[in-house]
Amino acid sequence: MKYQLAIIGGGPAGYTAAEAAGKAGLSVVLFEKRSLGGVCLNEGCIPTKTLLYSAKIYDYAKHASKYGVTVPEASFDLAKIVARKSKVVRKLVLGIKAKLTAHQVHIVTGEAAIVDKNTIQCDGETYECENLLLCTGSETFIPSISGVEKVDYWTHRDALDNKELPGSLAIVGGGVIGMEFASFFNSLGVQVTVVEMMDEILGGMDKELSAMLRAEYTKKGIKFLLGTKVVELSKQDTGITVAYENTQGAGTITADKLLMSVGRRPVTKGFGLENLDLKWTERKCIWVDKHLQSSVPGVYVCGDLNGVSLLAHTAVREAEVAVHHITGKGDTMSYRAIPGVVYTNPEIAGVGMSEEALQVAGIPYHTVKLPMAYSGRFVAENEGVNGVCKILVGEDDTILGAHLLGNPASELIVLAGMAVEEHKTVEDWKRYVFPHPTVGEIFREF
Ligand SMILES: Cc1cc2nc3c(=O)[nH]c(=O)nc-3n(C[C@H](O)[C@H](O)[C@H](O)COP(=O)(O)OP(=O)(O)OC[C@H]3O[C@@H](n4cnc5c(N)ncnc54)[C@H](O)[C@@H]3O)c2cc1C
Repeated sequence: MKYQLAIIGGGPAGYTAAEAAGKAGLSVVLFEKRSLGGVCLNEGCIPTKTLLYSAKIYDYAKHASKYGVTVPEASFDLAKIVARKSKVVRKLVLGIKAKLTAHQVHIVTGEAAIVDKNTIQCDGETYECENLLLCTGSETFIPSISGVEKVDYWTHRDALDNKELPGSLAIVGGGVIGMEFASFFNSLGVQVTVVEMMDEILGGMDKELSAMLRAEYTKKGIKFLLGTKVVELSKQDTGITVAYENTQGAGTITADKLLMSVGRRPVTKGFGLENLDLKWTERKCIWVDKHLQSSVPGVYVCGDLNGVSLLAHTAVREAEVAVHHITGKGDTMSYRAIPGVVYTNPEIAGVGMSEEALQVAGIPYHTVKLPMAYSGRFVAENEGVNGVCKILVGEDDTILGAHLLGNPASELIVLAGMAVEEHKTVEDWKRYVFPHPTVGEIFREF
């Protein structure tokens, strides 16, 4: 069996590359050991957002009176929320399968192993390829905290499929995944405590806006322990106890359930990566060039596996660039404007450089900050909720970064991303005609 392109991993990177290469007329084989769609579709982006949407509807129903609407008694059924999540996932997985089949991609369900750069084995069969694309993704990282092996903790997978609401939940790790689950369970009435080692939640997002989001969730009842190191986990009759240390000293919290969301790391073991003589970076990631090609010609590495961004939309774009390079279309990867979004309620999103990164790089800039209330549409749809739009502008008036707190930040951030990617100035931006009334008009207010 000979193919022009073999792909290991059917997540966003793998299925995007397979579809693009199939469309371009290449013969493609795609190996996936679990389910097409990868982490993103089966246990990441899509299921979390589906659950969060149910929580949002419930929140709106509870607060409907603020908009002059009476909802007698809002309630929810967690089993039904989880069942709907699974239905959405099934539908989208089928959609991907249909697209790949339409483009003549040979899908092999099984665990692939690399023999050499032109030979893959899977379930006793040997496949030959001219080009190889590796996109095995990432996995949950569980830190070696004392006692961790003796307690039953949740990872995101357990939290997604849990059908019985705990009374209380301790979340170790206040990053994006931790905060999205914190938001979901808080909306459903669970007493949530987030323990974060850094001095602010959502490391990597704008610090000021992250602090504002934290203040919002503190009002909603979430307890935050920042700058706090978890030193021991233990099982008690009353639940799981998290022992911690911070500048105030040592303490404990006990919760019915514990969610570990400390981070993720690339899947580099168990599929013969060592059979390729790959170059690695100082950060112990696989080295790739601007076409996503590794140091071994014809071997490409996309998505979470290369450790650059660990986001689905980055994986998708990287996969397109790799296929364009294979098919001889000039294309290079740019990481200048990769949006970061947290789908809490309100949402927070950022693109381009943060103030902290600009300061470290010594790049001169000024900050323009506006309340989201400058947008009529935002005021109409966000009773009693504040938001902020922060733009970082360079000395030559180009937009270097944009950071938003307020709905629908996830949809608006792409407008700012285009401006950052295209080196637009504030004046350029204002020449676009925005529909009125939209929240995006905030970008014309600068
Ligand atoms: C809870 C959660 C929420 C998230 N939310 C978001 C979000 O909102 N937005 C966002 O951009 N990102 C989000 N992410 C991150 C996103 O899921 C990843 O960035 C994305 O899935 C990476 O895509 P990928 O193709 O690199 O790898 P993956 O999606 O991890 O896919 C890799 C695939 O490779 C397969 N595989 C591995 N080894 C082999 C082998 N040897 N043979 C065959 N198959 C193999 C795996 O089974 C897997 O299906 C979230 C992640 C989690 C965990």
